This record gives sequence, structure tokens and C-alpha cells, in this order.
Amino acid sequence: MTLLTADQQAIRDLAREFADGEIAPRASDWDRNGAFDRDVLDKLAELGFLGMLVPERYGGLELDLPTYLVAFEELARGDAALALTLHIQNGPVPYVLMTHGTDEQKSRWLPELASGATIAGFALSEAGAGSDPASMTTTARRTDGGWTIAGAKKWVTNGGRADVMLVFARTGGVDSGRHSIGAFLVDTSAPGYRVGKRERTMGLRASETVEVELDDVQVAADRLVGDPARGLGYALEALDLGRLGIGAQAVGIASAALEHAIGYARERRQFGRPIAAFGAIRSKLAVMATRIAAARALVMDGARAWETREALDADAVPVTARSAMAKLMASETAGLVTEEAVRIFGGYGFMREYPVEKLMRDAKATEIYEGTSEILRLVIGRSLTA
Ligand SMILES: Cc1cc2nc3c(=O)[nH]c(=O)nc-3n(C[C@H](O)[C@H](O)[C@H](O)COP(=O)(O)OP(=O)(O)OC[C@H]3O[C@@H](n4cnc5c(N)ncnc54)[C@H](O)[C@@H]3O)c2cc1C
Repeated sequence: MTLLTADQQAIRDLAREFADGEIAPRASDWDRNGAFDRDVLDKLAELGFLGMLVPERYGGLELDLPTYLVAFEELARGDAALALTLHIQNGPVPYVLMTHGTDEQKSRWLPELASGATIAGFALSEAGAGSDPASMTTTARRTDGGWTIAGAKKWVTNGGRADVMLVFARTGGVDSGRHSIGAFLVDTSAPGYRVGKRERTMGLRASETVEVELDDVQVAADRLVGDPARGLGYALEALDLGRLGIGAQAVGIASAALEHAIGYARERRQFGRPIAAFGAIRSKLAVMATRIAAARALVMDGARAWETREALDADAVPVTARSAMAKLMASETAGLVTEEAVRIFGGYGFMREYPVEKLMRDAKATEIYEGTSEILRLVIGRSLTA
């Protein structure tokens, strides 16, 4: 167990209580119905859980990253699909605004995100541009009053639910190897913004994953965030932060699976004894708990490195590699732990009335979004050999 400060324990307890009372009991229904209830977002907003990293002056909780991730892991333990919405609302979108937005943009958008008045999405991927977002074809052309955005985005989380979408679009050519890509805050009610097909997904079924079409959407000049040519860099920075969030989400999924597996192993009797008495089952539980502890420690290590990134000395492992290591370890741990949990449940593990098959389906997504495991290995390997 990672040692927590008093503040971290307090926020963990609050998040755990909320997850146990308001999220976990409804997660299976949400999974079956393909949506979580809006009221849960309102309750999360009241607790400040929609603006955990946002500065207090903009209505947020202003948590440091390790403390945020302690709370976020607990919420993901309740339901990973809801957690994905919370992740985008708390992580990549406010990060880009806080770091690269103007004072006016921060004053306008951050309080709306933190209060839940505005739900956000992050639209980077395209049908032909996933691991390689620099190959995107969505364009933003300058007009008199701002920009016209044309193209299509793929697998956009919150795509149908969001009020504002942070859309990445090509604003020019390639200059000295750098792709000219901008980041734009696009109203989802704008003419030409269309939510397309909703994907039928293996897991995270309560999360909306949709296509978004941008048919000459007009955006005002004040919707561009930062430099029109540096948006891809902002997205990649946001991924360093985001991968730690997905790492915490994966640890939350794995922790839920371990708890269910321990509970079941204590109760289920075969050969006249609880199956928890068998060495083979205990050995599985031991490996599951050890992998979770290791993954959580790597996520926290990455978060602490993120907080002190400017002060890291030249020999330190760069934050980008640490965050990739944390997500790689945590997502593959979630895969292993949820599969073992299904095995421990035996035949019941395969049945939808029991919680572990959902956790196994949900875990799979953490190995894909915000960098597949192959891409994370590339990132880590590059930092070792650069
Ligand atoms: C549930 C879900 C939600 C998502 N939400 C969002 C969202 O909100 N916003 C958003 O922008 N995107 C989102 N995505 C998209 C996600 O980020 C991409 O799916 C992911 O980056 C991988 O891209 P791809 O699917 O195009 O796979 P590809 O890039 O086509 O990769 C296919 C395979 O090739 C491998 N591969 C690719 N390049 C290399 C290489 N150089 N070396 C070795 N192997 C390689 C990959 O690892 C993978 O195994 C979401 C995806 C899912 C599943």
C-alpha cells in the first residue's frame, strides 16, 4: 500500500464512500443500458470531483496530481466507464486550458468545467490517425472572424454528451518536421458539428464512444487555445498527464477485481473447504495483489515526477517515459488481474450476473487509448536509447 498523506487519505475516503454508495451498485445497470445517469455527474460536481486539478480561484479543488490520482483510482474502482468521462473532464481538457489558454479562456471555461455546467471531450484521433495523430487530415482554415474546421474525428469519448469539444486540426503544413496543428474549443451545438455513429464496444459500455463530423464548423478566434501551430505538442503533453490518469483507472479496475475475487474465494466451497484455502488460489491472489501494489507505486512515482518535472535532473528518467511505464504496467496489470478474477469465479465468472466479466472487458480499453502498449514500449525504449 502506498503511504498516503492525511489529505490524500481524506480525499480517498470521500471518493471511496461515494464510489461504494453511488457508483458501484449502479455500474452493472449502466453497462447493460449503455449509459450512466446524469445525476451522478451532478453529485460528483457538488463534491468538486469534476475540477480536481483546476485552481481554487476558478472553482476547482486544486489538488496536486498524486492526490487527484488517489481519488480518481477510487472512482474508477466504482465504474471505469464513468471514470473515463471524469478523466477527460479533470485531466487533458483543463490541462491544455490551464497551461496554454488565455486568462479570458481560463476565466470562462475552467469554472464551467469544474461545476459540471459544461461537459468536455478531447477529439484527437481520426479513422486513419490513431497512434500517429500527426497524420490527421481534419483542417482549420483561417477566416475573417476566426476559423473554419472540416474533417472527422473517431472514437470520441463523451462525443454525444459533451457541450464543448477540444478539437485538434491541421492549420498549416510541416515546418522543420513540426506539424502545424491547432487546438480549438468547439461548441457541440455549432452548425456543422454532427455526432455520427455510436460504437458498440467490448467494454466501457456506459461510455459514449462516437464519431464526430465537422462540416465547415465556424469557430471564433477566441476558441483557439495557444499557438495555432503547437496544438499537437499540447496534446502530447496532455497525454503524459493523461496516461497517469489511465494508469490510475486501470489500478482501480484491478482493485475491484481483486476485492471480488477475495470475497468469492472465501465463500465458495469445494472439496469441503473454501477455495481460498487452496494454495493455487492463494498464489493467484498474491500475484494479483503484488502487481496492483507495483502498478499503483509506478503511477504515484510518475505523478510525483510530473509535479517536479521542471526540477528533474538530466539523469532522471523523463516524465514522458515514467508516465508511459506507469500506464503500461497498470493496464497490463488490469488485464492480468481481471482474467485471474474470472478464473477464480469459475463458471460464474463467465456469467453477466457476476461483476468480474465486466471488469475484464473494461480493462482491455486501458491497453489501447492514450497510447497502445506497443506505442508505450516505443516511448520508453526511445528514452532509454536516445
Ligand atoms: C474506448 C475508447 C475511447 C477512446 N476515446 C478517445 C477520445 O476520447 N479521444 C481520442 O482522440 N481518441 C480516443 N480513442 C482512440 C484511441 O486513442 C486510439 O484507438 C489509439 O490511440 C490507437 O489508435 P488506432 O486505434 O488507430 O490504432 P493504430 O494506431 O492503427 O494501431 C493498430 C495496431 O498497430 C500498433 N502500432 C501502431 N503504430 C505502431 C508502431 N510505430 N510500432 C509498433 N506498433 C504500432 C498499435 O499498437 C496497435 O496494436 C479511444 C479509443 C477507445 C478504444
